[in-house]
Amino acid sequence: MFERIYPTKIILPMKMHYGVPAIPAVKEGDYVRIGQCVGVPEKGTFSVPVHTGISGRVSEISEIVLPNGIKTPAVTIVNDMKRTRLDSVKPRSGFKLSASEAIGVIRNAGICGMGGEGIPTAAKLNRARTEVIQDFLVNCLQSEPYSTSDLVAITEYPDYVVLGSCACARAVGASKCVFLISENRKEQRKALTNSIEKIKDDFKDLQFEIKLFRERFPQGYYRLVARALYGKNLALGETLEKSCKAVLFNCSTMLACWEALADNIPMMSRIVSVTGDASGGHNMLVPIGTPVSELLSNAQDIKNGSDRIVWGNCLTGIEIKDPENTPVVKTTSVISVIRRLEVPRTPCIHCGLCSECCPMNLSPNTIYEMLNQGLGQKAAEEGARECIACGSCSYVCPSGIDLTYSIARFAGEGRIIEINSLLDNSSSELKQNYDADSAYVGEASLLEGYTDGGDNSEEGSGDSLTLPFEKDKKV
Ligand code: SF4
Ligand code: SF4
Repeated sequence: MFERIYPTKIILPMKMHYGVPAIPAVKEGDYVRIGQCVGVPEKGTFSVPVHTGISGRVSEISEIVLPNGIKTPAVTIVNDMKRTRLDSVKPRSGFKLSASEAIGVIRNAGICGMGGEGIPTAAKLNRARTEVIQDFLVNCLQSEPYSTSDLVAITEYPDYVVLGSCACARAVGASKCVFLISENRKEQRKALTNSIEKIKDDFKDLQFEIKLFRERFPQGYYRLVARALYGKNLALGETLEKSCKAVLFNCSTMLACWEALADNIPMMSRIVSVTGDASGGHNMLVPIGTPVSELLSNAQDIKNGSDRIVWGNCLTGIEIKDPENTPVVKTTSVISVIRRLEVPRTPCIHCGLCSECCPMNLSPNTIYEMLNQGLGQKAAEEGARECIACGSCSYVCPSGIDLTYSIARFAGEGRIIEINSLLDNSSSELKQNYDADSAYVGEASLLEGYTDGGDNSEEGSGDSLTLPFEKDKKV
């Protein structure tokens, strides 16, 4: 179950994804409707468009700084509460899509990974297609403490999650669709099983599997998945696609893909958990851009003004200083509300707990000391770049040492290189070809207007992806 939130305004950052910011396609005073594109990628850049999930007037376009330090232009829209939609935001019927067209729709819908670094989904799909993968993995694990937004998405919209996964699996030419889920999530397992049963005759070219994992944190990071499913320890720069012939997507991202493919809905809202040890646990369906303060004011049990409000999960998230001006972005799965505890800080007592809990088998205390002494090269040799920023070492440390901050920051530099290599290998298909003067900007839907653009002409008719749209929708 989730609550629907209709905010008084939204603040839409032009950068909520991995890549360069989109450019505002509206001006102050403009009236916009639900589903309208308000930010377009600059031609030839790696970016995704931005859409509004409310109707109303653009009140401001200015630069903002997100809690993670990213500076980006942002479009603020004041809600007229009329919920006026673009005419194009409605279910599709009676047509087929090629694989390239399906990926194009996903690109134009502004979809990026909703569970991680916000890599544009079309880019990842294109890469998977280039690598000729076999296994299409859907991450339904959501193992962070307190967070349940992905699990609610599965419970409420299992058909959309499964159909989105099948459509994308077919688009990249996978032969198997595998849903990864914790063994304790009985309700979600049942929902997925029922949905697979309903649609499997439409996807006879795909095998289906539900793979059970132990309940533990962290779980869903791709390198942990590579180890768990394929017994491979991926080195930095190695990818699931190349090494394991597999690709991994978040289940909420797959839900968004089916909304775009079947209902012409761009990425303009998401489910967010508002939860922690100072909150009873809420899940809210909100337009992207909703200020965090409007989520908190709808969670009646949050009363103590001294709690820490965290953008992200309680282990690795960032404390929010200004909830009124901090928006939910495409990658925000949780706002954590945590009691403020002052942990006494003492020197390391060499208890070894941080090493015991590290999922990457690192010695966080040793690496932390090396980094403190400026010995970056030694820290790298000790494996520091392997850190996946899970936050476990800081959480267990009885001395209150924030090991994660410095280790994860050091590793983050490596990860940027890793993602760049992931994207650089792809063809120019990944570069967006939007034209700010095109008919798709403004009040026309980017989805309705999608054309292939000739990029994929070599693939010809062999590229056909028939989705179950021809008659009635099967959901
Ligand atoms: S945050 Fe700490 S426990 Fe987690 S991977 Fe990094 S070093 Fe290991
Ligand atoms: S958990 Fe803390 S005190 Fe224990 S070894 Fe690690 S850094 Fe030292």
